[in-house]
Amino acid sequence: MTKLEKIYEGKAKILYTTKKPHLLIQYFKDDATAFDATKRGTILEKGIYNNKISAKLFELLKNAGVPIHFVRLLNDREMLVKKVEIIPVEVTVRNITAGGMSKMLGLAEGIKLEKPVLEYHYKNDSLHDPLINDDHIQALKLATEKEMKKIARLSLKINEVLKDFFAKVNVTLVDFKLEFGRFKGKIILADEISPDTCRFWDSSTGEKLDKDRFRRDLGNIEEAYKEMYKRIFSI
Ligand code: 5GP
Repeated sequence: MTKLEKIYEGKAKILYTTKKPHLLIQYFKDDATAFDATKRGTILEKGIYNNKISAKLFELLKNAGVPIHFVRLLNDREMLVKKVEIIPVEVTVRNITAGGMSKMLGLAEGIKLEKPVLEYHYKNDSLHDPLINDDHIQALKLATEKEMKKIARLSLKINEVLKDFFAKVNVTLVDFKLEFGRFKGKIILADEISPDTCRFWDSSTGEKLDKDRFRRDLGNIEEAYKEMYKRIFSI
């Protein structure tokens, strides 16, 4: 499948059209940004790790019955995906306090939550992805009530599948961000699932194995992505 026209360039990925109108090529860059792109850098080979990690996790979710945009891996940095209409709501699933939730509620990081917490953020960098609820989403017509019910159910299912998978490679899934889209009238999972979009902590040592190493200047960033890649492909 060859790339035709670039139709979108985001912070970490580029989308190209193909000769099939319903399929796109998703290209993964090494560029890294944080804090609404006020911090910028490059993580060597991140695009390769994120492409392959996302492909493996999408396959896992597909086998568990989750509808996904992923069609197949094309090469080191590219995957073929279904062309969706992205819903401008970022869904965050949290199992343990960290990051934005700790900051917002004045909580230490690392507290196990009694139940998974779902958060919705309006996808808008200039507004810093503000927290919104179902009422905002429906009132602003970002998605319907029925679509949000489906998104919530799928997000919790994805959490269960991923939590079990990562436990097998001694990784605690702290939290992650998902994006969904509409394809032929149905809600399907889009975007990526990678160390860019998840918090992964080594279950024995608590070591951070994700983009927080870049966000917080912890060093050994490439090593963390490579370590997650190795563990994910060890089973
Ligand atoms: P937080 O809200 O604590 O900053 O992020 C929660 C989780 O969602 C983290 O795993 C983080 O990586 C992911 N996340 C939230 N918003 C974004 C975003 O805009 N970009 C990326 N790459 N990940 C995000």
